[in-house]
Amino acid sequence: MSANPFTQHQTKDGVVLPHVLNRAPPGTKCHVICLGYLQADAGWFFRGGNTGTMSNPQGPEKRERRDLIMYSVLIEHPTEGLILWETGCGKDYPEVWGAPLNDIFARSRYEPEHELEAAIAKTGNDIKDVKAVIVGHLHLDHAGGLNVFRKTGVPIWVHEIELKSAFFSVATGADAGVYLSHYLSVDELNWKTFDERTVDFAQGLTIHHLPGHTAGLCGLQINLENDGTFLFVSDHAHVIENYKPGVPQGWLARDHPAWFNSNQRLQRLEKTTGGLVVPGHDLETVKPLLGRVLT
Ligand SMILES: [Zn+2]
Repeated sequence: MSANPFTQHQTKDGVVLPHVLNRAPPGTKCHVICLGYLQADAGWFFRGGNTGTMSNPQGPEKRERRDLIMYSVLIEHPTEGLILWETGCGKDYPEVWGAPLNDIFARSRYEPEHELEAAIAKTGNDIKDVKAVIVGHLHLDHAGGLNVFRKTGVPIWVHEIELKSAFFSVATGADAGVYLSHYLSVDELNWKTFDERTVDFAQGLTIHHLPGHTAGLCGLQINLENDGTFLFVSDHAHVIENYKPGVPQGWLARDHPAWFNSNQRLQRLEKTTGGLVVPGHDLETVKPLLGRVLT
C-alpha cells in the first residue's frame, strides 16, 4: 500500500493531529500569484534599521533597502468555489497612492501580468468567478485590489476589529497613510466579519487572529492533502526575519507587546501543524511557490 502523503505530514515531529485535521477536500488547488514588487528603506521593516548613532549620526554610508514581493493566494475549493486571500495594491497604485507614499514604497518592477485580474487569469481562472475574499489586514498594499469587487456582492471577510480600525483610521486620520479611503467603501463592498480568535472558515481553511502589526490582523492556515500546511500570515511578518529569529518590525510596528505574543503563538502553530510560514512580502519564501499548483 502506498503511503498517504498527508499521513506522513501528520506524523512529522511535533505535529499535533487536531491542528491539521481540518484538511482541504481532495481536488483543492492553491495558486500563489505574484502581484508585483516594491522596494523600501529597511528601517520600515526592522527595529533600528539604518539608524544613526553618536559616532555615526548619518547612519550607514549605504542605507539598506529591501526588495519586497506582493502576492495573493487563489484557492480552487471543490465545495466553496474560488476563494481569494488578499488582493494586493490594486490598479495603477503609484498614481492612486500619490506622493510621497509611491516613492517611499516604490514600485520596483512592473509587468501587466502583475495585475490581479491578469494574475488570476494566468491560473486558468476568471476573477468574476471569485466567490469570497478574505483579507488578512486592510493596509493599502493588501486591500487596494478590493475595488474590483465593488457592487459585485462578493463577500469580503475580515476580522471585526480590523474593519473597525480601518474605518476609524480613515475617518479620523489616526493612522493616516497605511489605510486609505479609496478601497474602504461603506456601501459598495459586501463586508463580512468574524470576531473569533480562531475560525474554521471552510473545509481545510482556518483563520487565526494575530494582532500586533494591526489590531485585527489575521493569518490563513491551509491544510492540503499533498503539500501539507501553509500559514499565510499577511504582515504579521513583512519578511522572514520578523518571524524568526523574531526581529521586531521597524517604523511599521504598532502594538509591539501584542505582536510579540502573536509571534510566540505562530511559532507554536508552526510546530503543531508542521506548516510553512509565509510572510506578507518575503521574496525568498514566496518565490519558490510561484507558478506551482499546491494540492
Ligand atoms: Zn504589506
